[in-house]
Amino acid sequence: MRPAVHGEPVTLPMSFKQIQDQDVAIRLLRGIVLQGRMPNGLLFWGPGGVGKRMAAHEFAKALNCGEIPDDACDVCLSCRKVDHGNFPDILRISPTGKMRIIKVDVIKEVNESAAYRPFESNVRVVIIEDADRMNEAAQNHFLKTLEEPPSNTVFILLTERPRFLLPTIRSRCQSVRFGSLRTETVASMLARRAELSGETCDSLAALSGGSMARALQLMETNRRETVMDVVRRLAAGENPLLVSEGYGAYIQATEKRITAEVMGEKGVQVSEESDEEDSPEKEELEAHAAGLVRQEMVEHLKLFDAWYRDEFVHSASGGPRFNFNRDLENQLPVRVDLDKHAEKLQAISDAWKYIERNMKKQRIFRDLFFVLAS
Ligand SMILES: [Zn+2]
Repeated sequence: MRPAVHGEPVTLPMSFKQIQDQDVAIRLLRGIVLQGRMPNGLLFWGPGGVGKRMAAHEFAKALNCGEIPDDACDVCLSCRKVDHGNFPDILRISPTGKMRIIKVDVIKEVNESAAYRPFESNVRVVIIEDADRMNEAAQNHFLKTLEEPPSNTVFILLTERPRFLLPTIRSRCQSVRFGSLRTETVASMLARRAELSGETCDSLAALSGGSMARALQLMETNRRETVMDVVRRLAAGENPLLVSEGYGAYIQATEKRITAEVMGEKGVQVSEESDEEDSPEKEELEAHAAGLVRQEMVEHLKLFDAWYRDEFVHSASGGPRFNFNRDLENQLPVRVDLDKHAEKLQAISDAWKYIERNMKKQRIFRDLFFVLAS
C-alpha cells in the first residue's frame, strides 16, 4: 500500500468517500480489503463523532461487495443488505443497561456464533462499539478470543478511550487512528442537517473541536446559552455571588436530571426493571452518574474558555481573527486587560482540574465567577 502523503488530493470512489477527513485511515482500510489479508482485530480509535462507526460499516460493506475490489458499490445485493441491516454476517455489539457496560455473556455469545462458518460471506465482521465499556471479565474473555481467533472473523473495536482497554488487547489489534474533523467539514455537515445561519454553523463547528457529536450536542442543548448568560451578566457588572447562585441552581438541576436518567426516577429500584442478573450496586450507579455530571461541567468550562480566549485574541490582535464564537463577534469587547484575562483563563483551567478532582462544584464555579468578574 502506498504511504499516505499529506496534502495529496484523495479521490475516494463510491462509499468510503462518505467518510471525510480520515484519508490515512481509509487508505489503510482499502488496502486491507484489496489485499484480503485480514487481521483478527482492528482497533478504530480517536475522538467521538468523527466517523469511526461509519467507517466500520463501510469496511464491512466493502469486504462483502463483489463489484469493486477495494470499496463498496452501494448497489449490489450484498451492499444493500448491509445498508438495511439484514446481512447475516455482520454483528454489532454496544453497551447496554444503565451503566452502559458490555458484559462477558455477550462476548461469549459472539464466540459461540463465530464457531460456525459465515452464512453468506467469506468473512464475518463483529463491530464492538464503545469497546472500552467491556468490563474486566468481558475484556479477559475477549483477549482469549483474540489469542485463539475464530477463523473467518474480524473484530472491529471502536473506542474514544483506548487506554481503558487491556494493553494485550490493543497490541493484538491493528491500530487505525481517526483524527478530528476539519472545522469546515463539521460546519458543512451541520448546515446540511439543520437550518442554521452560516455564522452559527461556523461557531458550533469551531467550538466542537472537530467532533460532529459535540457540535450536535451544542446545537441540541442549552449549554451554550447558559454559559453566555453568565458571561453577559458578569460583564454587565452583576454581583458574581448572585450569578453563581443562579448557576448553582442550574448545576443542581443538571445533577438531578442525570441522576434520574441513570438511577431511574424512584431511586434504585433497578433490579426489577432490569433483566441483568447482576444489577450494579447503588454506589456504582451513583459514581457513574457523578462522572456524567463532571463531564457536563467540563463541557461548560470549555465554552467559558473559548469565550474568554476570543475576548483575549480579539483585544490583542485588534480584530476578529481565529475566534470560536463567530456568530457573537459583535458582542466582543474592543479592549480588555490582557494580564487580567490571562488570569481568567488560568482560573478556568484550574476549575477544570478541581472538577476532575471531584471538589464541590457550586463552590468551584462561585470562585471562578469572582475571577471572571474582576
Ligand atoms: Zn456492492
